[in-house]
Amino acid sequence: MQKNNLTRRISAIQLLCLSWLVIFFSGQLQADNVISKTGTKKPAFELVVLGDTGGIQDGNLSAFLLRDINEQHYISLDAGTLVNGINIAQQHNAFADLTVIQDPQWSTTGNILRQHVKGYLISHGHLDHVAGLLISSPEDSAKPIYALPSVNQTLIDTYFNWKAWANFTNKGLPPRLNQYQLVDLVPKQSQTITDTSLKVTAFSLSHPLESTAFVIEKDQDLFVYLGDTGPDQVEKQGKLKALWQYLAQQLQHKHLRGLVIEVSFTNQRPDNLLFGHLTPKWLIQELTQFHTLIDDKSKIKDLQVIISHIKYTMKNGPDPREQIKQQLNQGNLLGFKFVLATQGQRLHL
Ligand SMILES: [Zn+2]
Ligand SMILES: [Zn+2]
Repeated sequence: MQKNNLTRRISAIQLLCLSWLVIFFSGQLQADNVISKTGTKKPAFELVVLGDTGGIQDGNLSAFLLRDINEQHYISLDAGTLVNGINIAQQHNAFADLTVIQDPQWSTTGNILRQHVKGYLISHGHLDHVAGLLISSPEDSAKPIYALPSVNQTLIDTYFNWKAWANFTNKGLPPRLNQYQLVDLVPKQSQTITDTSLKVTAFSLSHPLESTAFVIEKDQDLFVYLGDTGPDQVEKQGKLKALWQYLAQQLQHKHLRGLVIEVSFTNQRPDNLLFGHLTPKWLIQELTQFHTLIDDKSKIKDLQVIISHIKYTMKNGPDPREQIKQQLNQGNLLGFKFVLATQGQRLHL
């Protein structure tokens, strides 16, 4: 009789443990599926990471897809890796909420790139930001490329010139295949992005050649993508400050949902070898500048700062990604929410 009671009690405890495990793991799965949400607010944007490194590892170079959460059309922020990134993102279920248009002539990857990516925003002409665009162009659909004039000029001078690659654009050396319409952005002037509800405003950034920050806007919500950039104190051009001032002003009546910014090297990298890039120390210094300009600090309390462009290395030694993660956490006195971008990841912001 006593033994029976004991068995019953043990089964009840087992059942309780099991149900806790179920609750725990279903929570985990949900957390994995949608990586993050901005507080309790409904998300405004979806971001898919197609490539997270800043070089060395082909197949995983700077590229992100962004869409208004209520639309089926993305824009591509840089395009270092496209097809491989879309394949990996599919393996991670990153397009779970997208109703992919099924043209039977094309694979799902083909349909996502051809039907759902409505334009490219290219920050600068370095190969790790455009390789995917060049390589996939023979099977891509017609769409615009939005960039500052010097960036578009680099694209036609350096790549779409019938030497490095065929001229798929509507400018530069004839014959022009007219697949990509090059749209010159005027700095600090808002421009609509065709086939989407988004608008973009471009800001010049300091790098060995001109780079760009894109402020993407959908009604009252903002998202910012920065291409490669050095810190103002090293570059001495005040370009990041101009961006922070603009954003601080916008934040008086708008919401900043997310920010993609680079950290290429660890803090061990000396300033004279930065070549227009950031380290954890310099990123935190820049974000602190931004923070001081904002009147109502609660406006950026939940802001996700998504770290891109960590330089992959083939050298033996400590993993730079782990080091950068540690250094960001150590220096994070203002409580910024850092997320290290991972290829295939989807974020709701
Ligand atoms: Zn780069
Ligand atoms: Zn670069």
